[in-house]
Amino acid sequence: MIKNKRSEYLIKGTKENPRHICGISGGKDSSALAIHIKNTRPDIFEKLELFFTDTGSELPEVYEYLDKMEEYLGKKVLRIKADINSKHKFIVVDGEDDFNPFDEILSKYNGYLPSPRVRWCTRIMKIETMEAWVGSDYCISYVGIRADEPMRDGYKSKGKNKNDNKNIVSVFPYREDNLSLSDIYRILENSEMGLPNYYKWRTRSGCYFCFYQRMVEWAILSKLYPDWFEAARKYEVQHSDRRDYTWVKNNSLEKIKLNADKTIIRYLKKQYKKVNECDLVHNLDQMIEMVQRNEIRKFIDSWDLKKLHDADGENKEGCTVCAI
Ligand code: SF4
Repeated sequence: MIKNKRSEYLIKGTKENPRHICGISGGKDSSALAIHIKNTRPDIFEKLELFFTDTGSELPEVYEYLDKMEEYLGKKVLRIKADINSKHKFIVVDGEDDFNPFDEILSKYNGYLPSPRVRWCTRIMKIETMEAWVGSDYCISYVGIRADEPMRDGYKSKGKNKNDNKNIVSVFPYREDNLSLSDIYRILENSEMGLPNYYKWRTRSGCYFCFYQRMVEWAILSKLYPDWFEAARKYEVQHSDRRDYTWVKNNSLEKIKLNADKTIIRYLKKQYKKVNECDLVHNLDQMIEMVQRNEIRKFIDSWDLKKLHDADGENKEGCTVCAI
């Protein structure tokens, strides 16, 4: 059910008594942060508003993980969607629902797909939606940037004009507590939440068509979720201005699908050389056979692909707001 009365959800935040908010992306860092705050700052956790800016194009595994988190934390994760045609510019939805803000905004942009250079998706569906939800309330925003990520910035509130007080102040509990990547894994393991399932094959959270995903991730998407892949492909060809856009520069999804097996196998061969075989469940020949026999689900369920992804370190590409 869609609800759109802003006042129904908002607790007014003042300078003296600000709101406490924490954006959950469905990724490991923000999820572990909610758990960490619950464990270490129970007084804050009690008043903490957890929110998820839902693009309407998230992987099913993201929604599953959010549901699991709500159960574990005993707290709702408010699902907020951009709604450019509504008065408040956002709506709050109950769980997973069919409203797709991406499609609405895309048609406003005449089918011009977002890209790393023109990332309207993040700006409109994540940042502006969050700002609309917060309004002019004073907020403390808890951000999952770690102690081992000195180069990353959190969201910076601009205020209505440059002389305004900034009403959203970011704080970084991981940095305050000197926590790095291994600590995040430990928090998730200890909580028994574990990692979201999509980490078995993808390196980041976000939309199923995210242009930041690697070629091998597109290839696996075509195998695991052919309907989603097809939906992404349609965006490349259905444009009111009849121009061609592609998610991957100079490469159509049609071509990527045709070469999916080759792409995955090439990736396996390259990454296999970088890892210790003893850490893997399957050897290279077994992995290749599973791809050729279309047993990709069985292969990724072993988490071997994540181990191969990890050989390159953490994927730092992508939009930080989507990953927060
Ligand atoms: S996940 Fe990718 S496509 Fe989705 S909003 Fe973020 S940058 Fe855009």
